[in-house]
Amino acid sequence: MDKVILLRYGELFLKGRNRSYFEGVLARNIKAALAPFSCTFTRTQNRYYVENYSFADEFAIIERLKKVFGLHSLSVAVKLPTAFEEIYAAAIDCAPSVPGTFRVNVKRADKKLSMNSMQIAVETGARILRAKPYLTVDLHDPEYVVNVDIRENGHTYIFGETVACAGGMPVGTAGKGMLLLSGGFDSPVAGWRMAKRGMKIFAVHYHSYPHTSLQAKEKVVDLAKKLTPWCGGITLYVVPFTHIQEEIHRRCNANFMITVMRRVMVRIAEKLAEKEGCGCLITGESLGQVASQTMESITSTEDAVRALPVFRPLIAMDKTEIMEQAERIDTYEISKQPFEDCCTVFLPRDPVIHPKLEEARAEEEKLQEEEALIAEAIAGAEVLELKEE
Ligand code: ATP
Ligand code: MG
Repeated sequence: MDKVILLRYGELFLKGRNRSYFEGVLARNIKAALAPFSCTFTRTQNRYYVENYSFADEFAIIERLKKVFGLHSLSVAVKLPTAFEEIYAAAIDCAPSVPGTFRVNVKRADKKLSMNSMQIAVETGARILRAKPYLTVDLHDPEYVVNVDIRENGHTYIFGETVACAGGMPVGTAGKGMLLLSGGFDSPVAGWRMAKRGMKIFAVHYHSYPHTSLQAKEKVVDLAKKLTPWCGGITLYVVPFTHIQEEIHRRCNANFMITVMRRVMVRIAEKLAEKEGCGCLITGESLGQVASQTMESITSTEDAVRALPVFRPLIAMDKTEIMEQAERIDTYEISKQPFEDCCTVFLPRDPVIHPKLEEARAEEEKLQEEEALIAEAIAGAEVLELKEE
Protein backbone atom coordinates (compact mmCIF):
# COMPACT_ATOMS: atom_id res chain seq x y z
CA MET A 1 0.00 0.00 0.00
CA ASP A 2 1.58 3.24 -1.18
CA LYS A 3 0.69 6.87 -0.83
CA VAL A 4 0.19 8.76 -4.05
CA ILE A 5 -0.79 12.32 -4.90
CA LEU A 6 -3.41 12.41 -7.65
CA LEU A 7 -3.41 15.58 -9.73
CA ARG A 8 -6.32 16.91 -11.77
CA TYR A 9 -6.37 19.57 -14.40
CA GLY A 10 -9.29 21.48 -15.88
CA GLU A 11 -10.92 19.64 -18.70
CA LEU A 12 -12.36 22.65 -20.47
CA PHE A 13 -9.32 24.10 -22.15
CA LEU A 14 -8.01 20.69 -23.05
CA LYS A 15 -10.87 19.59 -25.24
CA GLY A 16 -9.66 21.07 -28.51
CA ARG A 17 -6.90 20.05 -30.83
CA ASN A 18 -4.33 21.72 -28.57
CA ARG A 19 -4.89 19.24 -25.80
CA SER A 20 -1.60 17.41 -26.01
CA TYR A 21 0.28 20.70 -26.25
CA PHE A 22 -1.34 22.02 -23.04
CA GLU A 23 -0.74 18.72 -21.29
CA GLY A 24 2.91 18.72 -22.29
CA VAL A 25 3.51 22.24 -20.98
CA LEU A 26 1.65 21.46 -17.75
CA ALA A 27 3.69 18.29 -17.22
CA ARG A 28 6.91 20.24 -17.80
CA ASN A 29 5.86 22.88 -15.23
CA ILE A 30 4.91 20.20 -12.69
CA LYS A 31 8.29 18.51 -13.13
CA ALA A 32 10.05 21.82 -12.59
CA ALA A 33 8.03 22.39 -9.42
CA LEU A 34 8.91 18.93 -8.13
CA ALA A 35 12.61 19.22 -8.97
CA PRO A 36 13.74 19.90 -5.36
CA PHE A 37 12.03 16.73 -4.10
CA SER A 38 12.87 13.09 -4.42
CA CYS A 39 9.76 11.56 -6.05
CA THR A 40 8.48 10.18 -9.32
CA PHE A 41 5.97 11.90 -11.56
CA THR A 42 3.88 9.75 -13.88
CA ARG A 43 1.59 10.82 -16.60
CA THR A 44 -0.99 8.41 -17.91
CA GLN A 45 -4.05 9.13 -19.95
CA ASN A 46 -5.97 11.95 -18.26
CA ARG A 47 -4.09 11.57 -15.01
CA TYR A 48 -0.97 12.70 -13.27
CA TYR A 49 0.49 11.03 -10.19
CA VAL A 50 3.29 11.86 -7.80
CA GLU A 51 4.68 8.73 -6.16
CA ASN A 52 7.64 7.40 -4.19
CA TYR A 53 8.03 10.53 -2.10
CA SER A 54 9.08 10.75 1.49
CA PHE A 55 6.24 11.33 3.91
CA ALA A 56 8.24 14.17 5.45
CA ASP A 57 8.02 16.04 2.12
CA GLU A 58 4.29 15.55 1.59
CA PHE A 59 3.17 18.92 2.93
CA ALA A 60 5.88 20.83 1.05
CA ILE A 61 5.11 19.00 -2.20
CA ILE A 62 1.42 19.81 -1.90
CA GLU A 63 2.11 23.48 -1.13
CA ARG A 64 4.35 23.64 -4.19
CA LEU A 65 1.82 21.95 -6.49
CA LYS A 66 -0.90 24.34 -5.34
CA LYS A 67 1.06 27.06 -7.15
CA VAL A 68 1.24 25.37 -10.54
CA PHE A 69 -1.26 27.06 -12.82
CA GLY A 70 -3.35 24.61 -14.83
CA LEU A 71 -3.80 22.20 -11.93
CA HIS A 72 -7.28 22.37 -10.48
CA SER A 73 -7.18 20.00 -7.55
CA LEU A 74 -5.26 17.18 -5.95
CA SER A 75 -5.86 14.41 -3.46
CA VAL A 76 -3.59 12.30 -1.36
CA ALA A 77 -4.62 8.72 -2.08
CA VAL A 78 -3.70 5.25 -0.97
CA LYS A 79 -2.78 2.97 -3.86
CA LEU A 80 -3.33 -0.76 -3.50
CA PRO A 81 -3.71 -3.80 -5.73
CA THR A 82 -7.39 -4.27 -6.59
CA ALA A 83 -8.79 -6.82 -4.09
CA PHE A 84 -12.04 -6.36 -2.19
CA GLU A 85 -10.88 -7.04 1.37
CA GLU A 86 -7.98 -4.65 0.96
CA ILE A 87 -10.25 -2.00 -0.53
CA TYR A 88 -12.64 -2.24 2.43
CA ALA A 89 -9.83 -1.99 4.94
CA ALA A 90 -8.33 1.07 3.26
CA ALA A 91 -11.77 2.71 2.93
CA ILE A 92 -12.32 2.24 6.68
CA ASP A 93 -8.96 3.91 7.34
CA CYS A 94 -9.89 6.75 5.01
CA ALA A 95 -13.28 7.41 6.66
CA PRO A 96 -13.28 9.99 9.46
CA SER A 97 -12.73 8.92 13.06
CA VAL A 98 -15.15 11.42 14.54
CA PRO A 99 -18.96 11.41 14.35
CA GLY A 100 -20.39 12.75 11.07
CA THR A 101 -21.99 11.82 7.77
CA PHE A 102 -20.38 10.23 4.74
CA ARG A 103 -20.98 8.54 1.46
CA VAL A 104 -18.87 6.25 -0.71
CA ASN A 105 -18.25 7.09 -4.38
CA VAL A 106 -17.01 4.28 -6.57
CA LYS A 107 -15.56 4.63 -10.06
CA ARG A 108 -14.87 1.34 -11.77
CA ALA A 109 -12.83 1.33 -14.97
CA ASP A 110 -11.98 -2.35 -14.45
CA LYS A 111 -15.08 -4.13 -15.73
CA LYS A 112 -13.79 -7.62 -14.98
CA LEU A 113 -14.76 -7.44 -11.31
CA SER A 114 -17.62 -9.53 -9.98
CA MET A 115 -19.49 -6.59 -8.45
CA ASN A 116 -20.64 -3.37 -10.11
CA SER A 117 -19.95 0.11 -8.73
CA MET A 118 -23.20 0.32 -6.81
CA GLN A 119 -22.64 -3.03 -5.11
CA ILE A 120 -19.09 -2.11 -4.18
CA ALA A 121 -20.27 1.22 -2.74
CA VAL A 122 -22.97 -0.44 -0.65
CA GLU A 123 -20.63 -3.09 0.70
CA THR A 124 -17.86 -0.57 1.44
CA GLY A 125 -20.35 1.72 3.21
CA ALA A 126 -21.61 -1.18 5.31
CA ARG A 127 -18.07 -2.14 6.32
CA ILE A 128 -17.32 1.45 7.33
CA LEU A 129 -20.51 1.65 9.41
CA ARG A 130 -19.61 -1.54 11.18
CA ALA A 131 -16.08 -0.38 11.99
CA LYS A 132 -17.04 3.22 12.85
CA PRO A 133 -20.59 3.10 14.25
CA TYR A 134 -20.52 6.81 15.13
CA LEU A 135 -20.77 7.64 11.38
CA THR A 136 -23.99 7.78 9.40
CA VAL A 137 -24.61 7.64 5.67
CA ASP A 138 -25.92 10.70 3.85
CA LEU A 139 -26.02 10.20 0.11
CA HIS A 140 -27.18 13.72 -0.75
CA ASP A 141 -25.20 16.11 1.41
CA PRO A 142 -22.46 14.19 3.20
CA GLU A 143 -19.76 15.89 5.28
CA TYR A 144 -17.20 13.47 3.98
CA VAL A 145 -16.77 11.42 0.81
CA VAL A 146 -14.74 8.24 0.58
CA ASN A 147 -13.67 7.81 -3.05
CA VAL A 148 -12.81 4.40 -4.43
CA ASP A 149 -11.28 4.63 -7.88
CA ILE A 150 -10.71 1.21 -9.43
CA ARG A 151 -8.43 1.56 -12.44
CA GLU A 152 -7.86 -0.81 -15.33
CA ASN A 153 -4.21 -1.32 -14.43
CA GLY A 154 -5.03 -3.58 -11.49
CA HIS A 155 -4.71 -0.76 -8.97
CA THR A 156 -7.27 0.98 -6.81
CA TYR A 157 -6.91 4.48 -5.39
CA ILE A 158 -8.74 5.47 -2.23
CA PHE A 159 -8.94 9.06 -1.12
CA GLY A 160 -11.04 11.49 0.87
CA GLU A 161 -10.32 15.18 0.72
CA THR A 162 -9.82 17.12 -2.49
CA VAL A 163 -7.47 20.10 -2.19
CA ALA A 164 -8.14 23.04 -4.51
CA CYS A 165 -5.15 24.17 -6.58
CA ALA A 166 -4.59 27.47 -8.41
CA GLY A 167 -6.57 26.70 -11.58
CA GLY A 168 -5.89 28.80 -14.66
CA MET A 169 -3.77 27.78 -17.63
CA PRO A 170 -0.25 26.32 -17.72
CA VAL A 171 2.37 29.10 -17.82
CA GLY A 172 3.92 29.18 -21.26
CA THR A 173 0.75 28.46 -23.22
CA ALA A 174 -0.35 32.07 -23.71
CA GLY A 175 2.72 33.91 -24.95
CA LYS A 176 5.02 36.27 -23.08
CA GLY A 177 4.37 39.63 -21.42
CA MET A 178 6.56 42.45 -20.08
CA LEU A 179 5.31 43.50 -16.64
CA LEU A 180 6.04 47.02 -15.38
CA LEU A 181 6.84 46.07 -11.83
CA SER A 182 6.94 48.72 -9.12
CA GLY A 183 7.29 48.11 -5.41
CA GLY A 184 3.57 48.72 -4.78
CA PHE A 185 0.71 46.36 -4.12
CA ASP A 186 -0.77 46.39 -7.59
CA SER A 187 1.76 45.38 -10.20
CA PRO A 188 2.79 42.04 -8.61
CA VAL A 189 -0.89 41.08 -8.49
CA ALA A 190 -1.27 42.15 -12.13
CA GLY A 191 1.64 39.89 -13.16
CA TRP A 192 0.22 37.00 -11.14
CA ARG A 193 -3.14 37.33 -12.85
CA MET A 194 -1.66 37.25 -16.33
CA ALA A 195 0.52 34.26 -15.41
CA LYS A 196 -2.67 32.55 -14.28
CA ARG A 197 -3.94 32.85 -17.84
CA GLY A 198 -0.84 31.04 -19.04
CA MET A 199 1.41 34.00 -19.79
CA LYS A 200 5.16 33.79 -19.27
CA ILE A 201 6.22 36.88 -17.32
CA PHE A 202 9.21 39.17 -17.85
CA ALA A 203 9.55 42.29 -15.72
CA VAL A 204 11.02 45.77 -15.82
CA HIS A 205 11.58 48.07 -12.87
CA TYR A 206 12.69 51.70 -13.04
CA HIS A 207 14.70 52.96 -10.13
CA SER A 208 16.05 56.38 -9.29
CA TYR A 209 19.10 55.69 -7.23
CA PRO A 210 20.33 57.72 -5.31
CA HIS A 211 17.00 59.58 -5.04
CA THR A 212 15.49 56.25 -4.05
CA SER A 213 17.31 53.76 -1.86
CA LEU A 214 18.92 50.48 -2.80
CA GLN A 215 16.37 48.85 -0.52
CA ALA A 216 13.64 50.04 -2.89
CA LYS A 217 15.32 48.00 -5.60
CA GLU A 218 15.80 44.97 -3.34
CA LYS A 219 12.13 45.14 -2.49
CA VAL A 220 11.23 44.73 -6.15
CA VAL A 221 13.66 41.83 -6.54
CA ASP A 222 11.99 40.19 -3.53
CA LEU A 223 8.56 40.75 -5.07
CA ALA A 224 9.60 39.20 -8.37
CA LYS A 225 11.07 36.21 -6.49
CA LYS A 226 7.78 35.77 -4.64
CA LEU A 227 6.07 35.34 -8.00
CA THR A 228 8.42 32.64 -9.29
CA PRO A 229 6.67 29.60 -7.76
CA TRP A 230 3.65 30.54 -9.88
CA CYS A 231 5.36 32.11 -12.87
CA GLY A 232 8.54 30.04 -13.17
CA GLY A 233 11.84 31.88 -13.57
CA ILE A 234 11.54 35.62 -14.23
CA THR A 235 13.95 37.84 -16.13
CA LEU A 236 13.91 41.20 -14.34
CA TYR A 237 15.35 44.34 -15.94
CA VAL A 238 16.31 46.97 -13.41
CA VAL A 239 16.58 50.17 -15.43
CA PRO A 240 18.30 53.31 -14.11
CA PHE A 241 15.76 56.10 -14.46
CA THR A 242 17.49 58.93 -12.62
CA HIS A 243 18.94 60.76 -15.61
CA ILE A 244 15.62 60.63 -17.48
CA GLN A 245 13.75 61.95 -14.46
CA GLU A 246 16.23 64.76 -13.99
CA GLU A 247 15.86 65.70 -17.64
CA ILE A 248 12.05 65.66 -17.43
CA HIS A 249 12.26 67.75 -14.27
CA ARG A 250 14.54 70.24 -16.00
CA ARG A 251 12.65 70.56 -19.30
CA CYS A 252 8.96 69.84 -18.81
CA ASN A 253 6.08 71.55 -17.07
CA ALA A 254 6.21 70.25 -13.50
CA ASN A 255 2.58 69.25 -13.49
CA PHE A 256 3.26 66.89 -16.39
CA MET A 257 6.15 65.15 -14.62
CA ILE A 258 4.26 61.91 -14.06
CA THR A 259 2.55 61.98 -17.44
CA VAL A 260 5.84 62.28 -19.31
CA MET A 261 7.58 59.79 -17.02
CA ARG A 262 4.90 57.21 -17.78
CA ARG A 263 5.29 57.77 -21.50
CA VAL A 264 9.04 57.20 -21.32
CA MET A 265 8.54 54.14 -19.09
CA VAL A 266 6.31 52.42 -21.62
CA ARG A 267 8.66 53.32 -24.48
CA ILE A 268 11.52 51.56 -22.69
CA ALA A 269 9.29 48.65 -21.69
CA GLU A 270 8.19 48.15 -25.27
CA LYS A 271 11.80 48.04 -26.48
CA LEU A 272 12.67 45.42 -23.85
CA ALA A 273 9.48 43.51 -24.70
CA GLU A 274 10.49 43.34 -28.33
CA LYS A 275 13.96 42.16 -27.39
CA GLU A 276 12.47 39.30 -25.34
CA GLY A 277 9.73 38.43 -27.83
CA CYS A 278 6.95 39.59 -25.52
CA GLY A 279 3.60 40.26 -27.15
CA CYS A 280 2.24 42.77 -24.65
CA LEU A 281 2.96 45.12 -21.76
CA ILE A 282 1.29 44.57 -18.38
CA THR A 283 0.66 47.23 -15.73
CA GLY A 284 -1.04 47.32 -12.36
CA GLU A 285 -3.23 50.29 -13.20
CA SER A 286 -6.73 50.46 -11.79
CA LEU A 287 -9.18 53.06 -13.06
CA GLY A 288 -9.36 56.20 -10.96
CA GLN A 289 -7.09 54.90 -8.20
CA VAL A 290 -4.70 57.86 -8.43
CA ALA A 291 -4.20 60.93 -10.66
CA SER A 292 -2.11 58.95 -13.12
CA GLN A 293 -4.88 56.40 -13.59
CA THR A 294 -7.77 58.51 -14.83
CA MET A 295 -8.99 57.63 -18.29
CA GLU A 296 -7.16 60.65 -19.77
CA SER A 297 -3.91 59.73 -18.00
CA ILE A 298 -4.13 56.18 -19.21
CA THR A 299 -4.86 57.43 -22.73
CA SER A 300 -1.81 59.66 -22.71
CA THR A 301 0.39 56.82 -21.49
CA GLU A 302 -0.97 54.34 -24.00
CA ASP A 303 -0.37 56.86 -26.80
CA ALA A 304 3.39 56.42 -26.33
CA VAL A 305 3.25 52.66 -26.92
CA ARG A 306 4.07 51.99 -30.54
CA ALA A 307 2.62 48.60 -31.39
CA LEU A 308 1.97 46.28 -28.46
CA PRO A 309 -1.29 46.02 -26.54
CA VAL A 310 -1.17 47.04 -22.86
CA PHE A 311 -2.94 44.59 -20.56
CA ARG A 312 -4.26 45.99 -17.29
CA PRO A 313 -5.79 43.05 -15.45
CA LEU A 314 -6.64 45.19 -12.39
CA ILE A 315 -8.40 47.98 -14.25
CA ALA A 316 -11.81 47.26 -12.71
CA MET A 317 -10.69 46.03 -9.29
CA ASP A 318 -11.02 47.94 -6.03
CA LYS A 319 -7.92 48.57 -3.95
CA THR A 320 -9.33 46.34 -1.20
CA GLU A 321 -9.80 43.48 -3.66
CA ILE A 322 -6.24 43.94 -4.90
CA MET A 323 -4.89 43.97 -1.34
CA GLU A 324 -6.76 40.77 -0.51
CA GLN A 325 -5.28 39.12 -3.54
CA ALA A 326 -1.81 40.39 -2.55
CA GLU A 327 -2.27 38.70 0.81
CA ARG A 328 -3.31 35.45 -0.82
CA ILE A 329 -0.24 35.39 -3.06
CA ASP A 330 1.95 36.53 -0.18
CA THR A 331 3.31 39.72 -1.75
CA TYR A 332 1.44 41.95 0.72
CA GLU A 333 4.11 42.04 3.44
CA ILE A 334 6.85 42.96 0.97
CA SER A 335 4.76 45.61 -0.82
CA LYS A 336 3.95 47.14 2.56
CA GLN A 337 7.58 48.03 3.24
CA PRO A 338 7.87 51.81 3.12
CA PHE A 339 10.67 52.27 0.55
CA GLU A 340 9.99 54.99 -1.99
CA ASP A 341 9.20 54.32 -5.61
CA CYS A 342 10.73 56.45 -8.35
CA CYS A 343 7.30 57.96 -8.99
CA THR A 344 7.52 59.80 -5.67
CA VAL A 345 10.70 61.59 -6.72
CA PHE A 346 10.14 65.12 -8.07
CA LEU A 347 6.45 64.65 -7.40
CA PRO A 348 4.62 67.84 -8.45
CA ARG A 349 2.32 69.46 -5.95
CA ASP A 350 -0.43 69.75 -8.50
CA PRO A 351 -0.19 66.95 -11.09
CA VAL A 352 -2.57 67.09 -14.06
CA ILE A 353 -5.39 64.69 -13.50
CA HIS A 354 -6.99 64.90 -16.93
CA PRO A 355 -4.06 65.55 -19.28
CA LYS A 356 -4.96 66.46 -22.84
CA LEU A 357 -3.24 64.17 -25.28
CA GLU A 358 -1.82 67.04 -27.36
CA GLU A 359 -0.30 68.61 -24.27
CA ALA A 360 1.16 65.33 -23.09
CA ARG A 361 2.82 64.87 -26.49
CA ALA A 362 4.07 68.45 -26.51
CA GLU A 363 5.57 68.11 -23.04
CA GLU A 364 7.43 64.95 -24.01
CA GLU A 365 8.70 66.76 -27.15
CA LYS A 366 10.55 69.16 -24.87
CA LEU A 367 12.92 66.39 -23.87
CA GLN A 368 16.18 66.74 -25.75
CA GLU A 369 17.68 63.66 -27.34
CA GLU A 370 15.03 61.38 -25.91
CA GLU A 371 16.18 58.42 -28.00
CA ALA A 372 19.68 58.76 -26.61
CA LEU A 373 18.35 58.96 -23.06
CA ILE A 374 16.33 55.80 -23.61
CA ALA A 375 19.29 54.00 -25.17
CA GLU A 376 21.47 55.03 -22.24
CA ALA A 377 18.91 53.70 -19.74
CA ILE A 378 18.61 50.37 -21.53
CA ALA A 379 22.38 50.04 -21.84
CA GLY A 380 22.66 50.63 -18.09
CA ALA A 381 20.01 48.07 -17.19
CA GLU A 382 20.89 45.30 -14.81
CA VAL A 383 19.44 41.99 -15.98
CA LEU A 384 18.57 39.56 -13.19
CA GLU A 385 17.63 35.97 -13.95
CA LEU A 386 15.48 35.00 -11.00
CA LYS A 387 15.13 31.27 -10.61
CA GLU A 388 12.14 29.51 -9.23
CA GLU A 389 12.23 29.60 -5.42
P1 ATP B 1 1.64 49.78 -7.83
O1 ATP B 1 0.96 49.41 -6.57
O2 ATP B 1 1.75 48.66 -8.80
O3 ATP B 1 2.94 50.51 -7.57
P2 ATP B 1 0.33 52.23 -7.92
O4 ATP B 1 -1.03 52.18 -7.38
O5 ATP B 1 1.42 52.74 -7.05
O6 ATP B 1 0.69 50.82 -8.50
P3 ATP B 1 1.25 53.98 -9.98
O7 ATP B 1 2.41 54.36 -9.17
O8 ATP B 1 0.41 54.99 -10.63
O9 ATP B 1 0.23 53.06 -9.23
O10 ATP B 1 1.77 53.00 -11.10
C1 ATP B 1 0.91 52.44 -12.04
C2 ATP B 1 1.61 51.30 -12.75
O11 ATP B 1 2.78 51.78 -13.41
C3 ATP B 1 2.13 50.27 -11.77
O12 ATP B 1 1.14 49.33 -11.43
C4 ATP B 1 3.25 49.65 -12.55
O13 ATP B 1 2.75 48.72 -13.50
C5 ATP B 1 3.82 50.85 -13.30
N1 ATP B 1 4.95 51.44 -12.51
C6 ATP B 1 4.90 52.44 -11.62
N2 ATP B 1 6.11 52.70 -11.10
C7 ATP B 1 6.97 51.83 -11.69
C8 ATP B 1 8.38 51.58 -11.58
N3 ATP B 1 9.16 52.27 -10.76
N4 ATP B 1 8.91 50.61 -12.34
C9 ATP B 1 8.13 49.87 -13.17
N5 ATP B 1 6.82 50.09 -13.32
C10 ATP B 1 6.23 51.03 -12.59
MG1 MG C 1 3.43 52.52 -7.23
